[in-house]
Amino acid sequence: MYYSSLRQIISEYLSKKTQDREDKSDNDWWYASSLGLCKRKHYLRRANMAFKDAKDERINLTGELGNAIHDWFGNMLSSMGSVLETEFTLVDEVNRIRGRLDLVVEFTTGKEVIDVKTERPESFFKRAKSSDNKIKNHQKMQLGWYYFMLKAGKYPDLVAARILYIDRGGGCLDEFKIDFDDEFKKKIFDEIDELNMYWKSQTLPPALTLKEDKWQCRYCEYSKYCKKVESNNNLKVKKIK
Ligand code: SF4
Repeated sequence: MYYSSLRQIISEYLSKKTQDREDKSDNDWWYASSLGLCKRKHYLRRANMAFKDAKDERINLTGELGNAIHDWFGNMLSSMGSVLETEFTLVDEVNRIRGRLDLVVEFTTGKEVIDVKTERPESFFKRAKSSDNKIKNHQKMQLGWYYFMLKAGKYPDLVAARILYIDRGGGCLDEFKIDFDDEFKKKIFDEIDELNMYWKSQTLPPALTLKEDKWQCRYCEYSKYCKKVESNNNLKVKKIK
């Protein structure tokens, strides 16, 4: 098959990949990667609401490039002999939550679960320079869930977690070791309980209201439906469909 440009090949590849993913996906789960983010969006995705707008192609391409960096990172660490796990799926059937962790690595100080995040240079430096938000809360929640799941299961001797931010543009690195405590564990599992409570009662979680959270709405494929719901407070999810 011939194409008229590289852009066309990339575009067709991305839409095929998106379609394949949608055909194979089992959406009836909460995802660890959405913990700490908008609960309403998390709910609508699990409800498999079929009214999403086409995702911006650039977002899909950025995702693919991020995956390529993850693959490189896993291969690089494996070649150095430090890796115990790469791309490992964790599942909690009871609470209907799953997630795919990046790595478990053995350091001189013990085993740690690792999450690798790639960022645009602007985001990387904005985050790195901020005084109180160097690790984003939702990313800490995601990593914390991996940590406590592994600790309760396959790796009871896990000692900590670690997050590595990579600046996609300039190759800068920002690395943090995290020691999770019981208070943070409660925060994670309380949120999962809350999501399940909404699910069982078929009630949509509230929309985001805090200014610092509203950035999520800019990237939300459910925004127009969300507004519709706001005009009818008691609208149940089946009625939205
Ligand atoms: S538009 Fe905003 S509040 Fe509504 S579901 Fe999306 S992220 Fe949540």
